[in-house]
Amino acid sequence: MGYAGDRKNTPTVLEAREITKKFPTPEGGEVTVISGVSISINEGEFTSLLGPSGSGKSTFLRILAGLIPPSSGTLLYRGQPVNHLRPRTAMVFQNYALIPWLNVLENVELPLIPLGFSRREREIKALRVLDMVGLDGYETAHPRELSGGMKQRVGLARALVVDPEVLLMDEPFSNLDVLTAENLRRDLLELWNREKLHTRSIFMVTHSIEEAVFMSNRCIIFSKNPAKVIAEVEIPLPYPRDMRSKEFMKIVDRIYTLMTKPLGERRVILPEKIEMLPHARPGGIIGLLELLLERGGKVDMWDFAQDLNLEIDDIYPSIEAANLLGFLKIEEGDLIVTDKGREIAEADIIHQKILFREALIDHIPLIRQMYNLLKQTKRRELPRDFFVDLIDAYFSESESEKQIDTAISWGRFAELFGYDEETDNVFLDPSVEESKSLALS
Ligand code: ADP
Ligand code: MG
Repeated sequence: MGYAGDRKNTPTVLEAREITKKFPTPEGGEVTVISGVSISINEGEFTSLLGPSGSGKSTFLRILAGLIPPSSGTLLYRGQPVNHLRPRTAMVFQNYALIPWLNVLENVELPLIPLGFSRREREIKALRVLDMVGLDGYETAHPRELSGGMKQRVGLARALVVDPEVLLMDEPFSNLDVLTAENLRRDLLELWNREKLHTRSIFMVTHSIEEAVFMSNRCIIFSKNPAKVIAEVEIPLPYPRDMRSKEFMKIVDRIYTLMTKPLGERRVILPEKIEMLPHARPGGIIGLLELLLERGGKVDMWDFAQDLNLEIDDIYPSIEAANLLGFLKIEEGDLIVTDKGREIAEADIIHQKILFREALIDHIPLIRQMYNLLKQTKRRELPRDFFVDLIDAYFSESESEKQIDTAISWGRFAELFGYDEETDNVFLDPSVEESKSLALS
């Protein structure tokens, strides 16, 4: 059989010892999100991490992946502190995190580029894993042409292509519909149990008890505020598992009981998930709406791009931004300007700025948060890097910078923010404070 039976006393690959993580609060204090967590990830083992939303699972996973440092505690790789010798880990994200303008093959080849593989080697490896995850024939498709399930298969292929020793997954199935998630879970387990994978250890964050019991050999349970390990539960059932069997339900019940102990109040600093801002300029967004209105306000996306002699990728950021801001609906490949979209496109520049400001506050939590933080400071001013640091647990470092720069440029257009090029400080535009149109808490 697979790994389930023969994994006793297998060596530890990655060990977290007494990991604590604190984040600064806007008031200048600190909040401890993870407190003294020790766990081990063993060879040949599928471990899951369960915990309530906001308990620090993603943060802990990022620490394991070396994406962010712990505030204290150590990470050991094969018994040695992780510093120069990094374990090869790879991550699968809940929202796939694919690059929209690269095709499937290029997305999967991407992590091989910094590893120094030749073009030919990259292609061979990528084709191999694409075949493995059932995406044979989709090499030249772009992410937007794929269903959620297929996107996550690409996400999985991109992680597996580097032959990671530890595969880290952050709620990989929670954005998929029930049947798609079920298929993908089964396919991954089959790959795993047939030892087709070079990867010997999987660590999966989930908030579904059933999913944890269906997939893993061992389940670690986090409490919240701060995260501590409240239990570790062995799941000694053979694969494939039957969700309706008595043994299965018994384990689910046990974990359920462990998890429903009363938990402390939740402390929210940022929303659990930040929507990624497309890097479009306000002028481009409004220009796009004007072009769409000239064509009647409802246009097929592909015809529109062709008509303008543009690649869809060139206008896609503006399309996404207009959609996010509530100016545009996307339905079955059609772009449909909303009433708000028509209003802003037809307004004079002063009213465009006011409407844009309202849309930012209504639809973009990051900008709302930046506004609230600025308002809480005495000088109505904060360094740009303060905001970059604030979101760096959600994005890569360079993406965090781009996100903040986009947020600033949108805020500047809307006369919500100002930016001091000399000090790199973001400040609240003085006109906002007088404005009564901003009903904010
Ligand atoms: P989970 O994945 O379990 O839902 P997270 O790890 O995403 O939880 O978040 C745990 C807590 O840490 C949340 O309260 C979140 O707001 C906070 N948090 C995460 N990243 C940061 C950050 N960079 N700065 C401040 N707080 C953060
Ligand atoms: Mg999370």
